[in-house]
Amino acid sequence: MDVAIIGAGLAGLTAAYALAQRGFNCELLEKSRALGGRMATRRFLDIAFDHGAQYFTVKTAAFADFLREVGVAEAMHPLAAPVVSYPFQDLAAALAEASREAPASNSEFPHRYVFYSGMTALAKSIAQRIGERQIIRECFVEAMAWDAAARRWTLHTRGDNTTLGGTRQADWVVMAIPAPQAAQLLARSRPLPEPFAKLQEALERVTYHPCLTVIWGSPPDSAYPGVGALRAASSRYSVGWLTWLDRIAPYRVPSGQSVAIAQFAPHASRALLDQPEGVVLRTLAMALEADLKIDLPTLQWVQIKQWRYASPAASVTDLDSLTAVSNFNFEACGDYLINGRIESAFLSGLAAADRLGRRVGA
Ligand SMILES: Cc1cc2nc3c(=O)[nH]c(=O)nc-3n(C[C@H](O)[C@H](O)[C@H](O)COP(=O)(O)OP(=O)(O)OC[C@H]3O[C@@H](n4cnc5c(N)ncnc54)[C@H](O)[C@@H]3O)c2cc1C
Repeated sequence: MDVAIIGAGLAGLTAAYALAQRGFNCELLEKSRALGGRMATRRFLDIAFDHGAQYFTVKTAAFADFLREVGVAEAMHPLAAPVVSYPFQDLAAALAEASREAPASNSEFPHRYVFYSGMTALAKSIAQRIGERQIIRECFVEAMAWDAAARRWTLHTRGDNTTLGGTRQADWVVMAIPAPQAAQLLARSRPLPEPFAKLQEALERVTYHPCLTVIWGSPPDSAYPGVGALRAASSRYSVGWLTWLDRIAPYRVPSGQSVAIAQFAPHASRALLDQPEGVVLRTLAMALEADLKIDLPTLQWVQIKQWRYASPAASVTDLDSLTAVSNFNFEACGDYLINGRIESAFLSGLAAADRLGRRVGA
């Protein structure tokens, strides 16, 4: 049985892996060249940094088992310096509080983790196990058409090694892309059987927060000694997350340098969408100064990444609309079905593969 999986973020990769284990012939269609979606690592001047998700937690036995099974348990490590919530009165007390943060005692992996080589390590490892030939990169799924008589899907794609686009056939489709993009795909695919209109409406109601990430290299930065990352305690602050890569993953940064990563909070990110670099940097400098008393250091280089769909503001509420479309050999998965975390993307991909497997009896 052929399954086309749209989107090679963690949800899509997990679904593909779990379905391949059950004997399905899967093809993953990914619009970008890189795999992993929002678990994204960029390499610049030989420094690998994550400009999407910053760390992950492992709260379920299923995720712990999966990480071992796909061979990445040895490649992950806890953040090497503590995460402190700001604002605070006294740095020493805040650090002491952060180090007292009780790890989940019932978990084998109780900390916040990163991979030695960056977040894409997980996607690469899963892809290796699925087989590169099953993954079509730079293949944007433009629209889908359901053939009721043959009970098969045709997917219309762009990229796909042709300039004009192509078509692909599948018995089943698993849509593993963020809700707003999923709603757009369904809209472009009209007409579809009636239950898809309800699903489209449910997906349109799931709004996403944007996130602007700024990464910069500088001479050694001595702000907040001992702190690995600062996390805003309230959404009213413009900088939601500020970390120093040379502190949380020191082996990635040549000595004598500092690499900082700042992520703007949703309201500030929204205001900065599509703004020129100068505006972003000025806003960053003002926010760091006002809220953290940090002067933006002399910048040796800067990278900015804009995520239009970074994290779902709320998860999808109308799950019936999802159940209804499975009669048309169709499943959906993605972090928005649970919450906007890496582990949720994994769990939703696994659940989609389970549902499909049970339907087909595999
Ligand atoms: C800035 C930022 C910080 C974050 N921080 C954390 C964190 O610290 N901890 C944490 O647990 N989570 C964090 N998250 C959330 C986490 O990254 C996501 O929950 C998770 O990676 C989502 O996985 P997914 O597979 O559901 O979606 P995605 O990773 O978005 O994957 C979807 C894939 O589909 C592809 N695609 C979209 N449309 C099409 C199409 N039409 N055709 C083909 N392909 C398509 C995309 O290119 C993408 O690769 C963060 C996210 C961002 C952006």
